[in-house]
Amino acid sequence: MLTQDEKLNPVSLDTLCAALCRALGVHAPDTAAAPNQELLSYLQGRTADRIFMYNPDAVAQWIYRKYPQLFKEAVNICDVEIPMQTVMPSVTPVCFGTMYTGAQPAVHGIQKYEKPVIRIQSIFDMLIAAGKKCAIVADTECSMSHIFNDRKMDYYFYNGYLQATAKAFELIKEDQYDMIVLYNGNYDSIMHKTGPESLEALSEARANTECFASLYYAIKENWKNHNTLLGFAMDHGCHEIDGNCGSHGLDMPEDLNICHLYKYIEREAQEQTK
Ligand SMILES: [Zn+2]
Repeated sequence: MLTQDEKLNPVSLDTLCAALCRALGVHAPDTAAAPNQELLSYLQGRTADRIFMYNPDAVAQWIYRKYPQLFKEAVNICDVEIPMQTVMPSVTPVCFGTMYTGAQPAVHGIQKYEKPVIRIQSIFDMLIAAGKKCAIVADTECSMSHIFNDRKMDYYFYNGYLQATAKAFELIKEDQYDMIVLYNGNYDSIMHKTGPESLEALSEARANTECFASLYYAIKENWKNHNTLLGFAMDHGCHEIDGNCGSHGLDMPEDLNICHLYKYIEREAQEQTK
């Protein structure tokens, strides 16, 4: 099953949060790791006043490498791919906890599959302190609808990822939020039942790519007066287990290696004055 990811990516997911904060011109959380150098060199000092994070659950780096045709629109849109190693145990609340705090699991407090509210500083807290508006759009039962609750931001939770996705498009059109996170767990849920490489699961990864591409075009159309950083950002990978099922959570490259994609979308007025 494993193709090209025998080695673990050297850079940890804990570097992402500080780099995103730098991109947005806000302080990083006190407990965040040093910023991701690849993302900073891509940005070259450019700052964004908006960020849209698309979070497709469990889309592994090895799936991304092995089936490039499923991800072609996302690759074409984005300028940079950032391989990282997610944190252990490689399960959803642990990994998203690190993605948005920049802290290791022992510091943010989620070290197994549980969904308490994280109380340490997150990127959301830093943006809120800077007077920015944030929203999380997700399924009602997923980790992202729990672990960053109780903050002065807006939450849109739905029974179904398509409803959540539709809401995200609505919010883009309303043009009110500085940070929007959209969580899509469709690949993860099908992959667990039918295996990471089943036609059913790969179709969901394809759907994630098409959703991401549509988000890009919606942002370009509706956020013309903003510089926006757009991310295709999964939490962890996955591997096949007995019975044609899929799983994750282990200390292995298939579960730990992830590859984010980013695009800096320049405001239109600036493009015209070039
Ligand atoms: Zn997950």
